[in-house]
Amino acid sequence: MRYEGAIFRPPSEASSLILQISVGCSNNTCTFCSAYKDKKFRIKSWQEIESDIISANKYKKHVNRIFLADGNALALDTKLLIRTMERLYNDFPLLERIGIYAGAQDVLKKQPEELRELKEAGLDIVYFGLESGSDKILRLVRKGVTAAKMVEACRKLKDAGLTLSITVISGLGGTDLTEEHASETAAVISAINPDYLSTLTLMVVEGTPLYDQVQRGEFKLMTPIQDLQELKLMLEKVTLTNCTFRSNHASNYLPLKGVLNRDRQALLSLLEKALSTPDMLRPEYLRGL
Ligand code: SF4
Repeated sequence: MRYEGAIFRPPSEASSLILQISVGCSNNTCTFCSAYKDKKFRIKSWQEIESDIISANKYKKHVNRIFLADGNALALDTKLLIRTMERLYNDFPLLERIGIYAGAQDVLKKQPEELRELKEAGLDIVYFGLESGSDKILRLVRKGVTAAKMVEACRKLKDAGLTLSITVISGLGGTDLTEEHASETAAVISAINPDYLSTLTLMVVEGTPLYDQVQRGEFKLMTPIQDLQELKLMLEKVTLTNCTFRSNHASNYLPLKGVLNRDRQALLSLLEKALSTPDMLRPEYLRGL
């Protein structure tokens, strides 16, 4: 298996075989993201993809999950994606699930029937970076899409029967926009009603435009306590049905997990406790991406 550059995958795909079918991110404009800055986006040819599948065949007795990388791999032509998945299900007899990263722009380019065909071909879970529900923040971080378009894209994915996992980033509006970030993100998440919701906590990486904004004093980072207050406000406002919630990434100050809205009160109580007991928080030196 040949990988080009650093490879990223969602935490829940830790035991999956990763097949890199595209290189880099089809958007690659976000001011906070350093993941694919060193890669020029390109889609791998069928010959390259097939060659990687053949070289991974030696693992076929162990693989039951495959994750298709890199960022926004759903940008691939639908026929090429289906051809890839058909080959994977053929070559890996224990394969149960295929996951992929997707951006709103690439989802919106696909027709509803294309998404249904992908589901029928065995695509199961789509990981979608919402980041924020605030149009102002999405514009400031150059996400390249509005909140309304995010909702439209996510509904298309759900209408096709795909499992939807979305991620938001707490602290992304800094201290100036924290209330807007919490309230508008809660509204957008509620409108989407995803199957899974996870939060990351903003980490500022040297070399990104956001890092320079912090150095110039244009972006004011939140303290850990302010971050928890923001998360609490978001959880107070969100309305979800049977959504698995996780806030247990290495970047988070406090591990949280539950089902929303069922476990909202328990999650809020834990946040209240942590706000009055800062020793419960992960120290800054132990945080990571
Ligand atoms: S956050 Fe997602 S869409 Fe934005 S540059 Fe990074 S990988 Fe691409």
